[in-house]
Amino acid sequence: MNEPEHQQDAAATAHSPAPQNQRMPVIFVGHGSPMNAIEDNAYTRHLAAWAQQLPRPKAILAVSAHWLTPGRTQIDAQPQPPTIHDFGGFPEALFSVQYPAPGTEAVAQTTLEILQAHFPLVRLSRDWGLDHGSWSVLCHMYPEADIPVFQLSINYAEAGEYHYAIGRQLAALREQGVLIFSSGNITHNLRVLDFQAPESARASRAWAQEFDDAVWQALLTRNDAALIDYVSLSPAAKMAVPTPDHYWPLLYVLGAAAADEAVQQTYQSFQAGTISMRCLQFGASA
Ligand code: ZN
Repeated sequence: MNEPEHQQDAAATAHSPAPQNQRMPVIFVGHGSPMNAIEDNAYTRHLAAWAQQLPRPKAILAVSAHWLTPGRTQIDAQPQPPTIHDFGGFPEALFSVQYPAPGTEAVAQTTLEILQAHFPLVRLSRDWGLDHGSWSVLCHMYPEADIPVFQLSINYAEAGEYHYAIGRQLAALREQGVLIFSSGNITHNLRVLDFQAPESARASRAWAQEFDDAVWQALLTRNDAALIDYVSLSPAAKMAVPTPDHYWPLLYVLGAAAADEAVQQTYQSFQAGTISMRCLQFGASA
């Protein structure tokens, strides 16, 4: 069950448009360092191959760990979202990357209407664009940047139940050809990185491995309640998720997945020793 069956028929379905009324899959991507945007490694090659196996979306709704708006969920609605270089101390080559995908004000408006029925405080925004949580991944998955992308912010004042509940409502977009794409990391503690550690299937620290394993087991059994209340999932949560910004995106995907949809792991590794690069999919590829 862990291995995605869809890899077998990749050639037959490569980038095929989603048939009418097909329910799009939902995906969670571990993004790690922004440097992955300009590197060629096992992880970035996986992203490119994975996208080829997904039905081609009409639009991508991106939930990134890097757009946190305490107090309100916002939906970015711009015809041409700017590429945001929201980091410092990286090589100039990274700052010159542009991801010029169009936005989609129409799908953003539809998303607003879906969410406002349950969350009246949700608003449209024109103040964001695409941060590196989105573009450092999408530049490998969809390098042509020809699929409209728009971001949904994370209301950082809210706890897990809220993010999961937003995901529940977003599920309706799956019937409209929208790929719900969340980008974070299951383990993310920037104070404990092992920069010299090569990318590896195993973490360099026990707490990172323990928490990543605990999340995976809860995903396999669809123990959504435990994943929402991640602090009680494992004692390792304190180290693995010192702040929940990179964990919350997982709950949007989990909420948007139907109860009977089994998780498929598409990629698993650790970068810098302790950052889980695990990538997941719910829903059929074709
Ligand atoms: Zn990040």
